Amino acid sequence: CGIIGCVGRADETLDVLVHGLSKLEYRGYDSAGVALADDTVSVAKRSGEIDELRALLDETTIDGAVGIGHTRWSTHGPPTDANAHPHGDCTGDVAVVHNGIIENYQSIRDELVADGHEFASDTDTEVIPHLVEDALADGAEPMAALRRALDRLEGSYAVAAVVAGREAVFVARNDSPLVLGLDEESQPHDESTATGGATRATYLASDVPAFRDYTDRVVYLADGEFARLDAEGWTVTDGDGTPVEKEIDTVAWDA
Ligand code: GLU
Repeated sequence: CGIIGCVGRADETLDVLVHGLSKLEYRGYDSAGVALADDTVSVAKRSGEIDELRALLDETTIDGAVGIGHTRWSTHGPPTDANAHPHGDCTGDVAVVHNGIIENYQSIRDELVADGHEFASDTDTEVIPHLVEDALADGAEPMAALRRALDRLEGSYAVAAVVAGREAVFVARNDSPLVLGLDEESQPHDESTATGGATRATYLASDVPAFRDYTDRVVYLADGEFARLDAEGWTVTDGDGTPVEKEIDTVAWDA
C-alpha cells in the first residue's frame, strides 16, 4: 500500500522511515514494517497500527545506514506479523517491500519450494526476495538480481529492496506509483563528484507526502523503470539496464 525508502541520512534513517510511514497512514493499512541495511539486514514489522511498530522498535535495536519501509493493505494472506512487509529470503540478506499484486506467484512459489526455499508468509510478495536470493547466488549484482526476479512476474508492483553489504536501495515499478525525492545535494550518478562527506539524501516513496517534509525535488518513475539509490546519488534505468535521463520536478509544498 505505502512505500518509503531512504539513503544518505545515516543515523536518522529509521526516524525518516517511521515518519514517512506515518505520513502515508491516510491511505489505509493493516500492518507496518521497516528494514535497515549495512553489512547485515535487520527487519522489524508488526500487524496493526504504526504505534505497534514503534513499540516494537522501542524494545529492539535495528541498525543500518539505508532502509525501506511499508504500510500493508493485505491482498494475499491475513494481516499478521509474518505477512507484514518487508519480506526476506532464506539467507536473511535480502529484504523487500511491495505494493500491488503478483498474479503468477503461486506457480513460482511452488517451484521455489520444490528447490528447497522455505517461506515465512502467505503473501504473493515473498517470491521476490527468494528469486533475488537465487540470482545473487548465481553471482548477479543486486540490481541485475532484482531485474531477473521481476522478469518472472506478472502483475502490478512497486518494489524496493535492500541487500546485506550494499548501502543502497534497489527499486522497480510496474503499474504502481513510485517517486524519488532528492535533497539539495542529490545528483544523478553520472554528474556526481566526491563531496567530502556532504550528506546526499535520496528518498523513495509511493506518494510524495512520505518525504515532503525533507524536500520538494522529485523524479517520477515510469512503468518498467528501475532505480538504484546510494550515498553518491541515484540512477534510473530502463528494462534493459540503459540509463534514462529523468526530469527533476518541483512539487508545491502544500501539494
Ligand atoms: N500483495 C501484497 C500483500 O498482500 C502487497 C499489498 C499492498 O499493496 O500493500 O502483502
